Amino acid sequence: MYLKPYPDQRNQQCEGGISVKGIVLGTDFITDILLVSLNLKPPLRLLPGDFGTQVALRTLCEAIVKAACKRLDLSPSELSAEYRPAITESGKFGQEAEIFIYDTLPGGAGFARRVGEMGLDVFRDALGILEDCQSCDASCYRCLRNFQNKRDHELLDRRSGAMLLRYLLDGIMIPPDLSKTDEMLYQDLLRQKVADIIFSRNERIVVPGIGDIIAPILANRNNGQQFVVASNSFLTPDTATTSELEEMKELLGNVILKDDILIRKNLPKATLEVIKKIGGTV
Ligand SMILES: [Zn+2]
Repeated sequence: MYLKPYPDQRNQQCEGGISVKGIVLGTDFITDILLVSLNLKPPLRLLPGDFGTQVALRTLCEAIVKAACKRLDLSPSELSAEYRPAITESGKFGQEAEIFIYDTLPGGAGFARRVGEMGLDVFRDALGILEDCQSCDASCYRCLRNFQNKRDHELLDRRSGAMLLRYLLDGIMIPPDLSKTDEMLYQDLLRQKVADIIFSRNERIVVPGIGDIIAPILANRNNGQQFVVASNSFLTPDTATTSELEEMKELLGNVILKDDILIRKNLPKATLEVIKKIGGTV
């Protein structure tokens, strides 16, 4: 028995015996489609379901559609793009994802095929859209936003999309500046006034077997337990930014990493996850 999504006063639970979860409603839609496969090498991953993955791939879809529409002189409603993890072993581990670009006209109008014929040029244009906007931090109507993608405006983040696309095109991974997200997370942790935990910033600690480490955020529990909290890139969700921190994570397991997109876009969630992991109560 499940709880009713809109319960009444008398009964909070659904009495029906055939309620199920996890159903996806779909339909057949015949059109032209271009499938683009994205491959990442470890430690880079786009984990299916991760918030960072959603943000980066949604952003990439919108940038590619905008670039393609500009080249083909189309309105943004004539082409669309979606993403999914590849249905392979690598897809499960976040090392292969797919973007599919399709004509919104039933039956297709040949636009997606023409995007495929443009080759990498359209992706270079998309990178320009992501990297060159002077008007916003994440997304605006000059770069990525339009009426068609209004439901996704909060997800669009051109810096994350640019980082991913730059890597895919040139194999270059430009490490993000994480000092700002470390500070955002630290200030929010302080605001929660967590019982029995003292947070401090950029503390030097000595880790036996590793040496001196600067902890971006240090959490000391009253029972003597110590944790290092740090933000990291959404593209390397399991890997710390320095080799010392990574070693400490592997050796002692008391390093908590939070991806930079989650911190920037949903700080309360990131903070609560950290507090839960440390075992604190707000
Ligand atoms: Zn912009």
